[in-house]
Amino acid sequence: MMKCISCGAEYSDDEIIYTCRQCDSILEVICQPKVSKDVFQCRKATMWKYKEFMPVDPSKIVSLDEGGTPFCKCDNLGKELGVELYVKVEGSNPTGSFKDRGMSVGITKALELGVDTVGCASTGNTSASLAAYAARAGLKCAVLLPAGKVALGKLAQAMFHGAQVISVRGNFDQALEAITALALEGQLYLLNSINPYRLEGQKSIGFEIVDELGWKSPDRIILPVGNAGNISAIWKGITEFHETGFIDDLPRMTGIQAEKAAPIARAVQNGQDDIIPVKNPETVATAIRIGAPVSAKKAIRAIYESDGLAETVSDQEILSAQKLLARTEGIGVEPASAASIAGLKKLINSGKIDKNEQIVCVVTGHVLKDPQVAIDACKDPVEVDADINALSKIIKSS
Ligand SMILES: *Cc1c(COP(=O)(O)O)cnc(C)c1O
Ligand SMILES: [Zn+2]
Repeated sequence: MMKCISCGAEYSDDEIIYTCRQCDSILEVICQPKVSKDVFQCRKATMWKYKEFMPVDPSKIVSLDEGGTPFCKCDNLGKELGVELYVKVEGSNPTGSFKDRGMSVGITKALELGVDTVGCASTGNTSASLAAYAARAGLKCAVLLPAGKVALGKLAQAMFHGAQVISVRGNFDQALEAITALALEGQLYLLNSINPYRLEGQKSIGFEIVDELGWKSPDRIILPVGNAGNISAIWKGITEFHETGFIDDLPRMTGIQAEKAAPIARAVQNGQDDIIPVKNPETVATAIRIGAPVSAKKAIRAIYESDGLAETVSDQEILSAQKLLARTEGIGVEPASAASIAGLKKLINSGKIDKNEQIVCVVTGHVLKDPQVAIDACKDPVEVDADINALSKIIKSS
């Protein structure tokens, strides 16, 4: 069953519907399985380990073994910052971002509904992921991308997996509005995170974090926020495990946005329940270059309910955090992902996060998604003859 988060209107699972017919608000899937956590033992470490919590037909699952991503204790960086730090590395998913979790459930749902065409608007990773899962399921796929604003790795993936890639003159918010209109005409099944089934897959990030910590919640989970589906999804997952009795405590959800694309952080800092959209969002972190996040209400609710925080970071802070994580821990992430580390640093410096807290930063996408940013952050390699004296001189000089 799906339920409106504002007025509580209920909709059946076999309806294709994205927003409430009564009040136009967003929907969530209600999922209350009665299981013991013992059933998870000995299962393969993918997100389908928790399949009882995934509201789709188990005989139709389309999977590339997404989830089960590395959960790295980061003592080098943690000591430097004065917290106990874990990093959940979502770049290790099949197409290199957490979107794969959502698409696995979303495409499974598409098969269940019997649609033949799927689509999305995307800042890049949603389209890369959708293209791959649609290929695996044998579905037609159309993706709308904001022209000139998609990182190269993501664009290459969407095209290579055979999606029809359409470059739209405009930003992500405008592309999403356009594809939503097409979906409402019945021309395709929309797999942006306004589709509540996407979040059902992504909530498994929350499941994995508390499972990895021995059925305990960390003090805080920090992640970048763009369209705001993921923070909503992780909170949904954690609260489902809490309600089922698998964990006793809850984390503070902490969302980080780029300074010039920060409607949610502004709303939270002003104590409001909804956002004022940002007209021309801008940031080097293209994955979170979004001015009118569709899941804003869910995200703001998650932050308030969990006594969490929202913070903004500059592009400079994002890029230096990206480098810091790469150089102190060997974890390469794309700029948007580094917003979580940049936000952590800023919140520690301002005293809003206590020293010694146990923190999980979710890093959302792989460094190779945006190779240009990585290359631009470094000096060109020196070029020499393959002569050992010349080589040895250079190596010693560094
Ligand atoms: C999609 C994405 C985000 C933003 O997630 P939302 O659910 O839109 O808030 C952050 N980082 C990366 C790498 C992404 O692909
Ligand atoms: Zn409603």
